[in-house]
Amino acid sequence: MPPRGEFSVSVTKDYLVFASAHFITFAGHRCEGLHGHNYRARVTIDGPLDPESWFVFDFVVLKKIMRRLCDEIDHKVLLPLENPKIQIAQEGDSVKVAYEGKPRYVFPAKDCALLPVPNTTVEMLAELLVKRLRAELETLGARQMVAIEMEVEENFGQSAVYRERLQ
Ligand SMILES: [Zn+2]
Repeated sequence: MPPRGEFSVSVTKDYLVFASAHFITFAGHRCEGLHGHNYRARVTIDGPLDPESWFVFDFVVLKKIMRRLCDEIDHKVLLPLENPKIQIAQEGDSVKVAYEGKPRYVFPAKDCALLPVPNTTVEMLAELLVKRLRAELETLGARQMVAIEMEVEENFGQSAVYRERLQ
């Protein structure tokens, strides 16, 4: 008989830090100035026990994947590609950013992470990290997982959680 309870594994925030710059837009015509956060992520995967190893997922592998996903956006300016108020144009080695048609910033392209999100809120970063982790798990053939939950914190005590059921 299979166990009746449910298992999950977590990798938590002290290990998954990324220090990045961003700004978000608000309703109407408000837009933040550029600033940075020491973001911290926590991931939890729900799933059945692997029948041979008696774990949900290998911590070493999960940490390695999450570390890589965080490193991709660490020490970058996070820019949203799907925000109708923000225009982003890559020209050579530069990324030009305009807000409502007015030029605002020019960054070296190597320092930017252009993200497929409408705003770089912690909610959207959490959802993006789940999407990217899900793709990695599928590549590894880990299809039996039940859910992924991602928390992204931008300040101590201030975080968003995105939870996606996989089946
Ligand atoms: Zn911020």
